[in-house]
Amino acid sequence: MASKRNRFLSQDNRFRLMLTLGLAVLLPAAALIYVNFHHLESIKRNKQVEGLIHRDFQYVLAVSEKKLNQKAYTMAEGMRDLFPSPDDSESDKVMKLDQILSKNPWLAHVFLFDHDKGMVFRSQPQLLNDPFCRKEHEMMATSYNVWFGMEGKMIVEGLHKRPRPISWYGGPTKRADGESFMTTAFFVPPRAPADRVVLAGASFDPNYLKQTFFPQMLDELITQKLSDDKGEALAMMVYPSEPEGGYEKPLVTSSGWSKGKPEIMRKLDDVFGGLALGIKFQGTTVDAIGRRWVMQSFLILGALSVLMIGGLILTYRSVSKEMALAHLKADFVSNVSHELRTPLALIRLYAETLELGRITTQEKKDEYYRIIRKESERLTALINNILDFSRIEAGRKEYDFRETDIAELVCNTLDAYRYQIEQQGFAFEQSIDSSIPRVRVDREAIARALVNLVNNALKYSANEKFLGVKLYRVNDLLKLEVVDRGIGITRREQAKIFEKFYRTGDPLVHDTKGSGLGLSLVRRITQAHGGEVQVESTPGKGSKFTLSLPLATATQ
Ligand code: ADP
Repeated sequence: MASKRNRFLSQDNRFRLMLTLGLAVLLPAAALIYVNFHHLESIKRNKQVEGLIHRDFQYVLAVSEKKLNQKAYTMAEGMRDLFPSPDDSESDKVMKLDQILSKNPWLAHVFLFDHDKGMVFRSQPQLLNDPFCRKEHEMMATSYNVWFGMEGKMIVEGLHKRPRPISWYGGPTKRADGESFMTTAFFVPPRAPADRVVLAGASFDPNYLKQTFFPQMLDELITQKLSDDKGEALAMMVYPSEPEGGYEKPLVTSSGWSKGKPEIMRKLDDVFGGLALGIKFQGTTVDAIGRRWVMQSFLILGALSVLMIGGLILTYRSVSKEMALAHLKADFVSNVSHELRTPLALIRLYAETLELGRITTQEKKDEYYRIIRKESERLTALINNILDFSRIEAGRKEYDFRETDIAELVCNTLDAYRYQIEQQGFAFEQSIDSSIPRVRVDREAIARALVNLVNNALKYSANEKFLGVKLYRVNDLLKLEVVDRGIGITRREQAKIFEKFYRTGDPLVHDTKGSGLGLSLVRRITQAHGGEVQVESTPGKGSKFTLSLPLATATQ
């Protein structure tokens, strides 16, 4: 029967172990593997995302260049028709060119070249106050004259082949406030005879480009892009494409650029040859986004690992506990069967002897009867302990609380043991305060608790045999003390002796039969009465067990 029950218990344990293992170890481990897997997957995905972002950036830059060019073309085309005819007089040409300049303040220079009649080159009047511009004016007027004289025919032919017949020449130039950029549009003016090389042109004012044209265009492009796909805010810059690293000296930056390198750049040609357009996210980089993501993943992995280690520790502890309990249970079974067998054997032996009628003296007979009674009492106590314990464990124990004179209950219980106590050579001291008011307790349970404590004191005393029982009152508490001068209990073990099946490692305990249930029962009974049990003990000096029961709750 015991082994069957043991088998059930161990099956139950195994199931619990599996459950704990499953929950505490396998789940986090599975989650870890799953996350790891996804981690790798998303690293791949992240690379793809990075690629997509870059491709998107390239696209934005290409569209932006197109829009910048279109705007420049439209502006140039708008004033092309105002140009004088090559056959106008020199003064008419000057007048008409000056008119164009005054109507279009965003132009720096305009000119008309006729292979036969030479170059008329005009600049915004206020620009000529600036020494840089004056120099620029002179240089352009002469060099263009020479250049068109030599290559004019080729340029005109090239222009006719273009869908929008304007060609551009852009490059760095200097202004009072530093390096700048200028671009010049060349075209064939209206009313130019087909058999003559006639070219006209207009230069976009560098200050206009820097202060108005680019800033407006960049902001427009960014706002448009943002309203298209509501992603992270973008920033753009225009900078000289040569030398490498020209982004450190930008010509124009959009709002929100702060500092840093463009994520993607595009060298511009046609209208803005010599410039580059750069793009990035405002306040962050694609790299930083990636790093943040990796960081997050590591944090998640770390948290999961901690969870897993926690699970392992929990499992280890639970397994150790289960194993210790299994060990204690095995001890319990062997102890209890021994405990049962000894009194039974004695009862049988003495009963048989009496039955045979060989005992003649009444004195001897009385002694045998007493032994039989004592052993059967021991047996009853043991069986009661086990039954009570199993009832409590199964939650089926019902207490029968009645108004009781606790002093009388203690005295009666001790009286039943007095003979045994003295027989074993114990000095017995009892101090019972009989003025304690009546309390509501389960008599049988309280008596059992007391008997267990007294029995322990008797069992675990070696040299000095002393037993003291004290009942007294401290304020609202009723105290029942059982004192011995026996082997004592180490501090470490004091915390454990109230656990079921636990027995200390003392050799005397080892040699003394016991179930390890007594103290656990004492504690359960005291708790059921709303009280608690405490132990004070010094190894080799003795122990004191104190039950404290609240008088108030006990009387309820
Ligand atoms: P049992 O006495 O059947 O072993 P208990 O639950 O009554 O079981 O006691 C648990 C353990 O506590 C004992 O095995 C013993 O090691 C220790 N113990 C209990 N009472 C005393 C005591 N008065 N002095 C020394 N050790 C004690």
